[in-house]
Amino acid sequence: MSDEGGRSDGRQRAKADFRFDDARLCFAFAGTLADRGTDVRFERLARPEDLSRWAVQSGCTTVAPTCTETDLDHARRLREAVQRTGQALAAETPPDPEDIALINSAAAEPTSVPALSADATTVRWNGGGVAAVLSMVARDLIALCDSEHRTRVRICGNPACGTPFVDTSRAGARRWCSMKTCGALVKKRAYRARIQAADDGE
Ligand SMILES: [Zn+2]
Repeated sequence: MSDEGGRSDGRQRAKADFRFDDARLCFAFAGTLADRGTDVRFERLARPEDLSRWAVQSGCTTVAPTCTETDLDHARRLREAVQRTGQALAAETPPDPEDIALINSAAAEPTSVPALSADATTVRWNGGGVAAVLSMVARDLIALCDSEHRTRVRICGNPACGTPFVDTSRAGARRWCSMKTCGALVKKRAYRARIQAADDGE
């Protein structure tokens, strides 16, 4: 029983980990709300400290910014505006003007600024706090909308996921937000279903 509990804790921790893989910054941010296609969504930005950790892990800033509950609330509202705009791009439908206004207002804030080390081997991203991080997320979505990749936005083929991604493959046949997570999961399920069907057929 304790063993089962331990495994369950392990799974929860893994699920709470932020996903970056090969995602664009704006859609990696959208993915901080997981299991969008289910009744039980999983919030990776549960506390202000989570937003602070995302800021560093995403590479937007080198020094973890201080986050308040108000910052977290603002970040989640921007995240949902990014998510809905990604869905609109994927569906080739007009986005919600209120979402665009929110994205533009976040992008109007100054971003972090890069500083190269004296030996030119490392970069530190400094300044701006949470507003700078959200500005970088918003600007990334704006840059996407201003690029040819705007027609390559898709929604993950894992029905439970629902995270947008940009299909930059030559064939344009990518189906998952991440091959490591959703792609592997769906393939594993299909494999199990085939085994089960074979067993049932015997
Ligand atoms: Zn996915």
